[in-house]
Amino acid sequence: MATKILNHALINHKLTVMRDKNTKCNIFKQNLDEIAMLMAYEATKDLPLKDYKIETPLTGMVGQQLLKEVVLVPILRAGLGFLDGFRTIVPTAKVGHIGIARNEKTLEPEEYYAKFPSNLDKSTVIVLDPMLATGGSAIDTIDNIKKRGAKDIRLVCLVGAPEGVERIEEKHPDVDIYLGAMDTCLNEMGYIVPGLGDAGDRLFGTE
Ligand code: URA
Repeated sequence: MATKILNHALINHKLTVMRDKNTKCNIFKQNLDEIAMLMAYEATKDLPLKDYKIETPLTGMVGQQLLKEVVLVPILRAGLGFLDGFRTIVPTAKVGHIGIARNEKTLEPEEYYAKFPSNLDKSTVIVLDPMLATGGSAIDTIDNIKKRGAKDIRLVCLVGAPEGVERIEEKHPDVDIYLGAMDTCLNEMGYIVPGLGDAGDRLFGTE
């Protein structure tokens, strides 16, 4: 699997509420939380398992447990909006944070904050960002966590633009991408169209 567009009735319904420019910050956040839980369910469906022996009240049996730890990596700042929903579904997940911004002089992406749990090489790492526009921050984040040893990486975005998805597929073909919806294009300012505007601003009320 390279890119999976979820096309889920509930995600489509809730995303329409989020896209509406009249939707207020609290309702925007509530719908993002709910979508994050639905997307977490899909993005974790095939996590590798190991056999695990237990005793039920009636008998012994071999059940299953997750083989690897899950590490969630929200890309600051809008990625934080996906975190609560994912942690509700995978409460044992650890969380790594990364902040990347363009240097205004060099125009190169620069990491201004990074803090990760150890053992990324033995974990399933799920990168979270509601908007996959040019793909620049997701590519930089994936480059960064690969340098720290991550090998099993998934990227979860609510809305994607074809341009960004294509770039990630080209740069990181080993990364599975989960999208709530694929939109039409990017505009000249790099916003996804029809999109939902600036996800960070709408989430945190900084418009
Ligand atoms: N980031 C956003 O928040 N919105 C877009 O449309 C593109 C990037």
